[in-house]
Amino acid sequence: MQNSLTCREFVEFLADYLEGRLSEDQLARFNGHLAACPSCVSYTRSYQDTVRLGKSVLPRREEPVPGDVPEDLVQAILAARDRRP
Ligand SMILES: [Zn+2]
Repeated sequence: MQNSLTCREFVEFLADYLEGRLSEDQLARFNGHLAACPSCVSYTRSYQDTVRLGKSVLPRREEPVPGDVPEDLVQAILAARDRRP
């Protein structure tokens, strides 16, 4: 096939593909290579996993980190324990 991509070109197209920036002609060649090249299929999957992972890790870092237990609470717990028979 005259217009088929090499694996190297495929990889260069991948980022644009995932952002929907390929032209119809580029998309046809991209899909044609994907249909014929199993190694690029698995490359695409791992690439997408990496992108997904990057997006899911970020929000987790914004969760509040639990601070130290307040001293008042520690004293209240100790006092309650001391009061037990
Ligand atoms: Zn390939």
